[in-house]
Amino acid sequence: MSANDHEQQFADEARRLFAGACDFVAGAAKTEQIPPSSLPEIAFTGRSNVGKSSLINALTGRKALARVSNTPGRTQQINFFALGDVLMLVDLPGYGYAQVSKGKSMAWNAMAETYLKGRSTLRRVCVLIDGRHDVKDSDRAIFKTLDGAAVSYQVVLTKTDKVGPEALDALRESLSIELAKHPAAHPEILATSSLSGDGIAALRVALAGVAARNHMG
Ligand code: GDP
Repeated sequence: MSANDHEQQFADEARRLFAGACDFVAGAAKTEQIPPSSLPEIAFTGRSNVGKSSLINALTGRKALARVSNTPGRTQQINFFALGDVLMLVDLPGYGYAQVSKGKSMAWNAMAETYLKGRSTLRRVCVLIDGRHDVKDSDRAIFKTLDGAAVSYQVVLTKTDKVGPEALDALRESLSIELAKHPAAHPEILATSSLSGDGIAALRVALAGVAARNHMG
């Protein structure tokens, strides 16, 4: 089998993984409600309204798995969705809305921080950044929290249908330089649009790869 065939096979497996059973497992509003760890986990966070719910729905091909809301800053739960017996998708609260409007430094969410720091099965956090915006201080605070917790994270740009190719390249470039200074940041930046579907298949492949690596130990 050629390298290309292998890549194609892996892309098919990733597509099947995300198209298969996806079940809501738990919604935790308090630390005690966080379910015991079982599967390898991939978590998602980002500034409120970044398109996190839309991205989780696009990844899993579901219309309403994660609730898309026009009211930023409302969801303060951690929601757990199991993809078969392979991978848990973890929808963390968004950040940066109320805090920024009050001009305070970001406290994010104590429960989310507790989760991040103590979760041995957590393989990666996708930090979503709106492709139309620059990195904000609230994103930088999350980078720092994740560096401190030694949790591997990866930036995923959202809403790229709203951004021209040059602006997108410029953002990727400045972000790459910034991320290189962060010990726990994965160097690859993925660009996605839940609306057009661009980059969604590539993100599935990346996340399936994280799960598969764990299976091999
Ligand atoms: P969340 O608060 O981060 O979960 O963000 P949502 O998924 O609720 O999306 C916030 C807003 O952005 C909604 O109005 C979505 O329709 C819109 N949105 C989400 N993803 C995209 C995208 O890929 N392209 C465009 N143009 N809009 C998007």
